[in-house]
Formats: sequence, C-alpha cells, structure tokens
Amino acid sequence: MNLLPETLPTRGNAQPGTVYLVGAGPGDPELLTLRALRLIGAADVLVYDQLVSDAILELANPVAERIYAGKQRGHHTVPQEELNQLLVRLARTNRSVVRLKGGDPYTFGRGGEEVETLRENGVPFEVVPGVTAAAGVAAYAGIPLTHRNYAQACVFVTGHLKDGSMNLDWPGLARRRQTVIVYMGLHGLPYLCEQMIAHGLPPNWPAAIVQQGTTPNQRTVTGTLATLPALAEAAQLKAPTLIIVGEVVRLKDKLAWFE
Ligand code: SAH
Repeated sequence: MNLLPETLPTRGNAQPGTVYLVGAGPGDPELLTLRALRLIGAADVLVYDQLVSDAILELANPVAERIYAGKQRGHHTVPQEELNQLLVRLARTNRSVVRLKGGDPYTFGRGGEEVETLRENGVPFEVVPGVTAAAGVAAYAGIPLTHRNYAQACVFVTGHLKDGSMNLDWPGLARRRQTVIVYMGLHGLPYLCEQMIAHGLPPNWPAAIVQQGTTPNQRTVTGTLATLPALAEAAQLKAPTLIIVGEVVRLKDKLAWFE
C-alpha cells in the first residue's frame, strides 16, 4: 500500500529481511513522520506495543501480519529478551518487519536493547524517530517545555516505581527555572510530589498531569505539588499519563487549543 506521492524523495520502501524500529508518536496518527507512514504501509509484519493506537494500525497493509507485543504495568506480556529474539527470527523469514513503538523508540522505549540484539545477530535495521509523549502533550495541552520567562531546561525522567519508591536525583529535579517531565509516573505521583517539596520546591509549585495526550480522550488536570495527587485521584485518569512539573504549567490557560 503506498500512502505517499511517488514524487516524494525517499530512501526506499521496506526491504525484506530488515527490521525498522519505528516511533508511532503519542497517539494522533497525524503526528506520524512520513518515513513511519511509508514503512507502516509497506511492511510484511508489524510488531506493535499497547501504546500504538488503532488508527495507526489501520494504516498497515491489510495482508500484513500483526503481532501484539504489548506491555502492561507490572507484567510484561512478552519478556524483552524474547521480543528481541522474535525480531531476529522474523527478519530471517526474509520479510520486512516494522517494530512499532509508542512515541519515540529511543525515549523510554527500550529501543536500544532491541537494536543491540539485531546488530549482534547481523540483522539490518533502521531507526525512525517519533514524536515523544513530552513533545506531543506539550503541544496539545498548551504547556511549552521551555519558556524564556519560566524554564531554561527540561528533564525527562521515568517515574516507574521500584520497590515502592523512585530512585531519582531529587536535588537535581527540585529546581526552579526547569521543567520536569515524568513518564510512567501516575502510581508514583504522591511520592513524586512529596519528594519535590522535601527537596526545596514550594508546595504551591505548578504541576499538571495529562491523560492520553493528542487523542480524543485527552484530559489535563492542573494543580500544585500539594494538590495534584488528590486532584488526579478524583479525576480517575486512565493510562497513559504524563506529569509536567514547573512554572510553564501556568501558560496552559492561555495556550491550550486542543481539549
Ligand atoms: N517511547 C514513548 C514512551 C514509552 S514509556 C515515548 O517516547 O513517548 C510509556 C509512558 O509514556 C507512559 O507511561 C506515559 O507516561 C507516556 N505516554 C506515552 N504516550 C502518552 C500519551 N499519549 N499521553 C500521555 N502520556 C503518554
């Protein structure tokens, strides 16, 4: 299936025996790159994550094989090592393989691990970046990641809990003039806010959490480090969610356009 004009310059369509690690963006199919669109339409096999939206899967060749490699919090449907080997095996069937990941494959996506295995096994590959959740959510929620008046730096961290806590550089995160973006942070939100205050940010420091950004189900809850955990719980947010901490959150009322 060719979804793009013939005149558009390209490095070529999906090659047999090659694995394409493709970022599918945060949800809205309009945010796919041209390279992603071309490869999704051409691939013989798609191996996709839970975060990849149905609207994007519908762009695949109807005869392509689809393999769900979804991961849910707490239990990995397919263990990572098995998944790495699966990509090698599929490539050896001499078909073109698109490994579709939510957002960007190299941002909290374990893309590095998959590519390492491909290289070790001599399987040709290409990596196609995608719009990471932070960039998508920032744009669609009206919360710039940086702003000359509020934040000169932006840090992406994982809020995934290990043994009930987060092993993060709290003094480095609890800084003014910086935006902190937390991926996978919903369950750890109370702990996160507590630690940010304990390490020096004021309780009234702005914070927001955005559910299913760039999709029709996008919802933003804004508050402060002191109030956000209770507000988020009351809102019964659904995954995936992204947390944004910093004064840029104040701009939302002026800049929001999508919700
Ligand atoms: N590789 C992905 C991130 C994978 S980790 C990327 O670059 O975006 C999964 C986490 O990403 C989720 O727990 C959530 O924190 C975040 N996320 C992904 N898509 C999102 C979306 N549409 N809205 C809000 N958060 C999202």
